[in-house]
Amino acid sequence: MEIVTAPEQPGASVRLRPEIAALPAYRQGRPAPADGFKLSSNENPHEPLPGVVEAVAASAHEINRYPDATALAVRERIAERFGVTADEVIVGAGSVSLIAQFITAAAAPGDEVVYSWRSFEAYPGLVTVAGATSVRVPNRPDHGHDLDAMAAAVTDRTRVVIVCSPNNPTGTVVTADEFERFMVAVPDDLLVLLDEAYIEFVRDEASVDGRTLIGRYPNLVILRTFSKAYGLAGLRVGYAIGPIAILDAARSTAIPLSVTAASAAGAIASLDAESELLERVDVIVERRDRLRAALIAQGWAIPQAQGNFVWLPSGNDTAAVAERLFDAGLVTRAFPPDGIRVSIGEEASVEILLRILGELVPASQEGAAD
Ligand SMILES: *Cc1c(COP(=O)(O)O)cnc(C)c1O
Repeated sequence: MEIVTAPEQPGASVRLRPEIAALPAYRQGRPAPADGFKLSSNENPHEPLPGVVEAVAASAHEINRYPDATALAVRERIAERFGVTADEVIVGAGSVSLIAQFITAAAAPGDEVVYSWRSFEAYPGLVTVAGATSVRVPNRPDHGHDLDAMAAAVTDRTRVVIVCSPNNPTGTVVTADEFERFMVAVPDDLLVLLDEAYIEFVRDEASVDGRTLIGRYPNLVILRTFSKAYGLAGLRVGYAIGPIAILDAARSTAIPLSVTAASAAGAIASLDAESELLERVDVIVERRDRLRAALIAQGWAIPQAQGNFVWLPSGNDTAAVAERLFDAGLVTRAFPPDGIRVSIGEEASVEILLRILGELVPASQEGAAD
């Protein structure tokens, strides 16, 4: 018998999980052109502080050794800052890894994970990888989470709810009151993840702050990261704080030794330099508020912006607007047909943004109005 081989790519006939094979490949933002600006990944435009670079460089002398598997030194520093024990802190290779660990620890095939949409683009893939099912609750017209609808979407199959405040990519926050009402409404055996990747940029006093909720709920975990405000996106360090039993389950799902000694050293040096780093956050917040006000003055319907980015609801014009920005040297993150997320980058990028967006506003806001 003759075996006929299909004209496929090598490996294409290997049996993989179909839902995984169907996932879109990760798209990293395009690199910025020379003299351009990368405003597509919510990175911190400031270069690392010299002390942080030195601490990371010093750790290189030990790279023949595995790191401390539990990253105890970093956990102790974070624990001290939040007034908890080191066992109530877990550190991962970015808080995205930790979100994956919590989802995997709680949700299996047949289980549901509820989150708002549009929200962080990583959530759908993490849920699929765990074998669970995403339940997306549409944002309110003001682009914020509809927490009442999210609570109403909880069924006996729900194992995790993710609340993202400030929400990536829309910039809105959940208020403390809304969040407390939500926690009362959902069962206390349901894991709630409060993703606060951008909390350091929040200036709205009504906003939820996970720090004030530590120890109050048996089912609440808060997640934070060194990638955004602290400017360590390239090192990969994030952390979560919550009840030990939940954290222990997440520890069991971790890929061992993923927090390197260099990451730990960079995180500790950043906590040592926290006040200096938070002054840089103030610079970005001022730039954000100024940019948002100017865009609103141009006629853009920019929602509340509490992260290090603004959301342009460019609707059906999204791809065209993003292309115009790209041609002007600005790489942004387009989510057609909803809008464009623009990170707050270098000061010089603001002028270019305002010039291009000022020319585009009328048509695109007509498209977004309905
Ligand atoms: C950036 C981001 C994270 C964390 O990213 P890491 O670099 O993996 O720490 C988590 N959640 C949201 C919503 C983010 O935007």
